[in-house]
Amino acid sequence: MSMMKAAVFVEPGRIEVIDKRIPDVGPNDALIRITTTTICGTDVHILKGEYPVAKGLTIGHEPVGVIEKLGSAVQGYSEGQRVIAGAICPNFNSYAAQDGAPSQDGSYLIPQGLCGCHGLKATAGWRFGNLIDGTQAEYVLVPDAQANLAPIPDGLTDEQVLMCPDIMSTGFKGAENANIRIGDTVVVFAQGPIGLCATAGARLLGATTIIAVDGNDHRLGISKKLGADITLNFRECDVVDEVMKLTGGRGADSSIEALGTQATFESALRVLKPGGTLSSLGVYSGDLKIPLSAFAAGLGDHRINTALCPGGKERMRRLMNVVQSGRIDLGVMVTHQYKLEDIVAAYDLFAHQRDGVLKVAIKP
Ligand SMILES: [Zn+2]
Repeated sequence: MSMMKAAVFVEPGRIEVIDKRIPDVGPNDALIRITTTTICGTDVHILKGEYPVAKGLTIGHEPVGVIEKLGSAVQGYSEGQRVIAGAICPNFNSYAAQDGAPSQDGSYLIPQGLCGCHGLKATAGWRFGNLIDGTQAEYVLVPDAQANLAPIPDGLTDEQVLMCPDIMSTGFKGAENANIRIGDTVVVFAQGPIGLCATAGARLLGATTIIAVDGNDHRLGISKKLGADITLNFRECDVVDEVMKLTGGRGADSSIEALGTQATFESALRVLKPGGTLSSLGVYSGDLKIPLSAFAAGLGDHRINTALCPGGKERMRRLMNVVQSGRIDLGVMVTHQYKLEDIVAAYDLFAHQRDGVLKVAIKP
């Protein structure tokens, strides 16, 4: 056993399943045999060439699996144990981590000369399928395993925890960053997988008027199941006008942007009350323009927060605790299943949002 199947980026528009060597396990690593992984919207950006990664890199950052081999320095786990790891795998020794922003940890890049600022590097905590081989493979090497491996509680299926590494962690962070208080009105822009989790997170944090916005009625239907009180299809109404009507002209306490476009960002600002918070989750691919009136010329006491998915074993433990408690059921989001060898077809389905797809379980 020395080779494995892995889905790698070949060139813009092309991902292929190839044979790759199973990696060696360093002292701080763990080798995980993947039992289930999935495709993220970010992977589609990579496929299209909109987010550059190295040719030949294994894609994917959402691992559910079994510990195959532990590094000599990794303690407190056992081989054969079922685990997940966050999409973001900081080492938690860095300046960024100790400064409260572990997802921005680039300390491991210092020896390679790729980070000149003591490890404070935006987005560098995201390693799987970005800077190191990712999870759309039979095996993945989890770096800094002691900080990043999270055992799956007994009784939870792969599908039940598949959203934890990225979608749920990111979506909930969007709600956490929105400074939600009990009784708040929150508008969530876009109800893809991340936006749906932001809606669910807003509900858990105590928002009592959650307005979900999308152009897809199927997704809006699911958002009602996950916690939205009101849904708005932007193709059928002026969302900003509607929110102002629904709030008696007051504006929303907070808004969550979960797509990454000028239009959604701008609307997320326009629906806010003075003093409100815009929590931005989307991955933008161009400059943003901030409209002067919505920004109150910079005098509106608005807060704009951005985030990258939080990782680490404690975050993963909490998220799996939410699943185990039954407070929300994200199982409805896993709509399709494909074998790893058929992942190219799965990308096609997912990228074109065919057949009501939300998330695809990929099984090696
Ligand atoms: Zn992702």
